[in-house]
Order: sequence, then structure tokens, then C-alpha cells
Amino acid sequence: MDKLIGELHSFESLGTVDGPGLRFVIFMQGCPLRCKFCHNPDTWKINEAKYHRSPDFVLEHVLKYKNFLKRGGVTITGGEPFMQPEFLKEILKRLKKEGIHTAVDTSGYIFNEKVKEILEYVDLVLLDIKAIREKTYKNITGVELKPTIEFAKYLDKIDKPVWIRHVLVPGLNMDFEMIEELADFVSTLKNVEKVELLPFHQMGEHKWKQVEEKYELSNTEPPSDEDMEKAKDIFKKYELKV
Ligand code: SF4
Repeated sequence: MDKLIGELHSFESLGTVDGPGLRFVIFMQGCPLRCKFCHNPDTWKINEAKYHRSPDFVLEHVLKYKNFLKRGGVTITGGEPFMQPEFLKEILKRLKKEGIHTAVDTSGYIFNEKVKEILEYVDLVLLDIKAIREKTYKNITGVELKPTIEFAKYLDKIDKPVWIRHVLVPGLNMDFEMIEELADFVSTLKNVEKVELLPFHQMGEHKWKQVEEKYELSNTEPPSDEDMEKAKDIFKKYELKV
């Protein structure tokens, strides 16, 4: 009998923004970060999952889309997928057995031996670096930056393909000098295939109300197109695909 149960937030069949091609996206419950711009604060508490599902159940559901997934794959996001290492490993292992491309979207905050083991079954890591300066990172997320940097360096060492993600939030990390420091760091990693710069927007505010958490960014505007372009140009200067 399959006793392993995953705490899951939701599923999205056939998304196009979380990795290459058409993706089946699994949102896992639980996250140790508290990002001020989080769109999914309802994923934070692991004991508040909407779904409790076995790997068998999840696989059966995903495999209904197998034909489409040949043009993409499965992305596991959250929350923080590495909060549930056993479940994550089992799902990824089975997906690899089915020949499906796997991506994991993570903050890189949880980095330990178990995570290293799981990476064997991950084709692509979507690594979300919220800021490159310790103080700013802590202000945005509530946690230390160090594990994420160590994780990024480890992924480089094992030559794991990575897409770096970075959300630009005016008033929090929209500082061109700091963006340049991030580009400089990313350019030292040989395994980064591309950088995705994402503009902050207000989509998640209503969820903060639902979970009764204080949302600090009600008056924050998205970055201008000009500022997004300027940020992109910084990464291009470091010969990064953006
Ligand atoms: S890591 Fe992602 S899910 Fe966790 S708080 Fe930050 S934005 Fe939200």
C-alpha cells in the first residue's frame, strides 16, 4: 500500500510559463519563506493543504496528459517543493521513468543531502533569487540568503541546467546597482541557460486577506517598461540570455 501522502495546494494542467513547452504544474503546500510579494500566501502553512494525495493518484492524473507533455513536461512548484522531500523524490522518480521532462521551481533555501539526492531526478531547476544582498533578501523573505547562494553554486558544480528567476519590485529590490551585482553573480555560473526577469504585479493581494496576513505592498506600482528594459540590458551586458 502506498502510504506516502503529499500535501498539495493545486494543479494546473498545461501551463506555459513555468519552464519549457507545455507543462503540467503541481503546486505543493508549505513554504519557509514569507516573501512580501508572494502571490500564493495560501501555500505557506503545510497543514492547510487543500489536497492530500498519494504519488499513485498524482501520477495517474498527470499521465492523462502524457501526449501533450511530450512537448514540455511537469513543473513542481509551491510553496517550496523541497519541504516535502520524500514525496517530491517519489513523484520525480516516477516521472523520469515515464520519460517526462521535470522542472522544480524553488527558492533554494532548503539545501541539504536529501535535496542533492532529489536533484538526480530533476532536469531543470527554476531558481528564484529574490535579491543578491543579504539585508535586502532578509527584508523581502524573512530568511537568510546564504543557503540559496550555496545551492546555486552546487547546481553549477554538478552542471544542472538552471533558469534564474527574479521578480523586480519597486521599493524592495528595484535598484540597478543591486541588479548588476545579481547579474555579476549569475554570470559566474556556467549552468544558467537563461534569466527570467518578472515585473511585480498586484495579483496576490486578495489571497493575503483570505489568510489574514498583513500585506505591505498595496501601494506598490509595477516597474515601468523602461525600468524592465534597463534591468534586462544589465543582464545582457554580462552575456546572459534574458
Ligand atoms: S518562496 Fe514563493 S511561495 Fe514561498 S513565500 Fe516566497 S514567493 Fe511565496
